[in-house]
Amino acid sequence: MTKKYDVIIVGGGMAGLSSAFALRNSVDSILVCDQYVVGNAFGSSSGSTRMFREMYSNPYYSRAAKISNVLWESQEQLYGKRLRVPHGLLFYGEDWGEETIEGSICAAKQVMQEQLTPFEELTAKEISARWPLRTKPSWQGLFEPAAGAVLAREALNFWETETVRCGHEIRTKVKVISVCDGTDVEITFENGVKVLSKRCILAAGPWSRYFLKLLGYQVQLQIWQMLWAYYSVETNRLESYPQWFCFQEKLKGDPDQGLYYGFPYMGDRKSDRGLIKIGIDWAPEKLKLQDYSPLTNIKIPRELLETLDNFVFTYIDGVKSRVETHLCPYTMSPDAGFVLDRLSNNISIFSHDSGQAFKFAPVIGENLKRLVLDEPLLFDLSPWSVNRSSLLI
Ligand SMILES: Cc1cc2nc3c(=O)[nH]c(=O)nc-3n(C[C@H](O)[C@H](O)[C@H](O)COP(=O)(O)OP(=O)(O)OC[C@H]3O[C@@H](n4cnc5c(N)ncnc54)[C@H](O)[C@@H]3O)c2cc1C
Repeated sequence: MTKKYDVIIVGGGMAGLSSAFALRNSVDSILVCDQYVVGNAFGSSSGSTRMFREMYSNPYYSRAAKISNVLWESQEQLYGKRLRVPHGLLFYGEDWGEETIEGSICAAKQVMQEQLTPFEELTAKEISARWPLRTKPSWQGLFEPAAGAVLAREALNFWETETVRCGHEIRTKVKVISVCDGTDVEITFENGVKVLSKRCILAAGPWSRYFLKLLGYQVQLQIWQMLWAYYSVETNRLESYPQWFCFQEKLKGDPDQGLYYGFPYMGDRKSDRGLIKIGIDWAPEKLKLQDYSPLTNIKIPRELLETLDNFVFTYIDGVKSRVETHLCPYTMSPDAGFVLDRLSNNISIFSHDSGQAFKFAPVIGENLKRLVLDEPLLFDLSPWSVNRSSLLI
């Protein structure tokens, strides 16, 4: 007889595991399945750190981040350890009246003032005096002291351990090839095995288009392969780097699109040689894909590595050399917003993470739980609707 679960969750990344964690005490049986392993390197949740902040240009995201921070805190109490490190975040560079996928300095300042989020304003001189960052005289900065880094791998481990401790199942190396909606949801795995569940959550990250299509949704979605790297730095500088985003105005078509980010030294490499993580926050056209297949052997374009190195060695003091590079996917929507919605009575989805969802994990998990249980949502989710006009093809 086919086994029947209360909830099946497709995807063992941030969204799948945070929703399993949220649901763990509310239903009898959850099955989380992943085609690889949880938090695998082909999906978007790999690596040890992600930034969290309330410094958003869009008040909706700033408010959601505030709620998320309250929920992170209660998860940390249960865990008995920190899942976030609050070392602050610097937004610095130029403001030219346009929004990037991370927002802009001016609009973020306005939102923080409205939301009463504490922040400091800094001149270019003050920035360079405080951190080993070179600036142009016209640059400006905002520093949000309560922001910082989420310990992403530790959070995934915590949600996984808690889910299993509560008697639920996590199966890895099982690929779901079909999700069929009816009175129950029938899931078929690649090996032909079928299972039933009352409710289903699709949390397939960059593979979401496959399931959206299967269920009749044609929406805009692009996969951006994002470059980040570890750099070695002079030992005496190691502890002096902040967490930052740098914004620079560039012409459309310029191979350097001017948006970069970096982490302080977090001691997060196994064979730690004093490395800091720095990334590019745009993708060149050749790294923007319609369909995602990690088996496609994508090479990191040499000119993109040179662009990153050029920024790093021009604007950051004390960097010695690039020692490790990675590509990791953002699932982008045209408005850089998420999809968190019901596709049918029994099937809910989180998708279109747009490279910024980890900090929202507790609100994503809790809202998916409430969709599954037909409970009132934490807040209005219409900006994340799968049917919003900006996603229409
Ligand atoms: C380089 C980079 C930097 C980022 N920085 C930040 C940051 O600073 N702050 C922040 O808040 N966010 C950040 N993000 C975004 C954040 O990491 C993602 O939003 C989040 O990890 C997305 O999680 P997910 O669960 O939606 O997707 P994923 O982690 O990709 O999980 C989807 C899972 O579904 C599984 N799956 C897919 N199809 C199937 C199938 N058919 N059968 C079984 N399993 C399947 C996959 O194997 C995968 O494990 C960053 C992302 C990247 C890539």
